[in-house]
Amino acid sequence: MADAHTKPHHDYHLVDPSPWPMSEVADPDIMAPVEESWRELGVITHFNTTLRAFVGDGQLAAVQTSDGEIKAELAVVCTHKEPNTALAVAAGLQTGSTGGIIVDERMATSVPGVFAAGDCTEIPHGLTRVPLQGLTGSHAYAQGKTAGVNAGGGQRTYGAVYVPWAPRPVSGSSGEHPSARRPLQRSGFRTSSGPLRASREPATTPESSP
Ligand SMILES: Cc1cc2nc3c(=O)[nH]c(=O)nc-3n(C[C@H](O)[C@H](O)[C@H](O)COP(=O)(O)OP(=O)(O)OC[C@H]3O[C@@H](n4cnc5c(N)ncnc54)[C@H](O)[C@@H]3O)c2cc1C
Repeated sequence: MADAHTKPHHDYHLVDPSPWPMSEVADPDIMAPVEESWRELGVITHFNTTLRAFVGDGQLAAVQTSDGEIKAELAVVCTHKEPNTALAVAAGLQTGSTGGIIVDERMATSVPGVFAAGDCTEIPHGLTRVPLQGLTGSHAYAQGKTAGVNAGGGQRTYGAVYVPWAPRPVSGSSGEHPSARRPLQRSGFRTSSGPLRASREPATTPESSP
């Protein structure tokens, strides 16, 4: 959102009750270069700050926060995607620290013969092993295929997730975005631009048949 909305002649404020960006899944030192890159894009960040109220008379004029009022013409509200797992919990399926259903690499739940996929599950991050929940539709699609094949008696695995939420590509730049590139460059990685390529086999090519 921060990447997408920065425009010249507009102030963009990010109000976040968390202490640093994506604090539920990443350590502060990992996110520091991302935060710095947002500042370079002109984003004014307000961490440890909660939204209290919208101020205006028929039209938004400001937002009230725990740290004072910010004049605003437009507010974009970003909320968590919470897994709806009431039915799964009632059925005895184990859920994890995010509230998502725990699955193995075959998308099998803790109850034999029951598979789950998509936003209701939690999947470990490939590097940190921190469970992630509420990924994207692309992940849900691939997980659904894995769960479906295995529920039908096949053998298909879904690996850990390394890039859970990709930054929006700038048009014409083949998937490259400053907020992704700058932190990498600061960390000593060489970056280049080019066409995006899928890191997995196409989902239409199952490794096995049920
Ligand atoms: C605003 C927004 C924008 C997004 N943009 C993108 C994007 O650009 N690209 C992308 O890849 N992903 C995007 N996503 C994420 C994507 O929509 C989800 O990851 C994806 O829809 C998850 O699929 P799912 O099948 O797991 O869950 P859902 O699509 O949420 O489907 C679950 C379904 O189960 C139903 N359900 C729940 N409980 C029960 C019950 N007890 N009985 C019967 N039915 C039940 C629900 O009503 C729902 O229809 C976006 C999400 C949001 C909210």
